[in-house]
Amino acid sequence: MPAAVKSPVPDSVILDGLKFAVRVSSRRRTVGITVDRDGALLLHVPEGAEWARVESWTRSKCHWVRDKLAEKDLLLSRQPRREFVSGEGFDYLGRRYRLKVTGEVWGVHFNGGRIRMHPSVAHGPDPAAAMAAWYRERARLWLPSRLRPWRARMALHPAGVHVRDLGHRWGSLGSGGRLNLHWAIMQLPPPVVDYVLVHELAHLAAGDHSPEFWDLVRVVMPDFERRRERLAFLGGQVWLG
Ligand SMILES: [Zn+2]
Repeated sequence: MPAAVKSPVPDSVILDGLKFAVRVSSRRRTVGITVDRDGALLLHVPEGAEWARVESWTRSKCHWVRDKLAEKDLLLSRQPRREFVSGEGFDYLGRRYRLKVTGEVWGVHFNGGRIRMHPSVAHGPDPAAAMAAWYRERARLWLPSRLRPWRARMALHPAGVHVRDLGHRWGSLGSGGRLNLHWAIMQLPPPVVDYVLVHELAHLAAGDHSPEFWDLVRVVMPDFERRRERLAFLGGQVWLG
């Protein structure tokens, strides 16, 4: 590959919510990404590479990077393990609530600023599955109405909304324009959830993360970059079941 026109290369760059430290090397001939032991992302750039091309290549690799991070348990390792004991904190729409293990309720129940769980569930074989099911139920009630004004403003309508476990992804677009959302987003503050909704809706009109895609997001959410950074930060802290 012939050397391209030189353009200024930054020390670091945030793309698609991921932060990369940039290392320029005279010994490299191709662009590459490595993941540090602590989860830091390094972008290796050959000397003289054209930055715009490096940037678009890196952008196209962001999904792959998330897969790699998840594979290495790097996102998961930063999340505290849950023990399902009274006093333990669980996030719901950006606020932290204490869990109370109590015989006063059946299953999992939320009211009075507390999440209550019956001892048979908390001490049962899979309290995490019961808690995830509770988030999923809340998501099914809350997300469609939260989505409605964004759908109207963007004039984009998914074929359906499904709340699922999407692994390390917050949302995805299924075949036939079906919108899939991870139940774990119910732990995020509503403005950050809105970003996920707008992002996925925009995929209905633009399949990739092209400049047109981001223009579409920006029109209805001028501060989307700030929200995306919050998602990148908070995303490492949410509980994924
Ligand atoms: Zn996307």
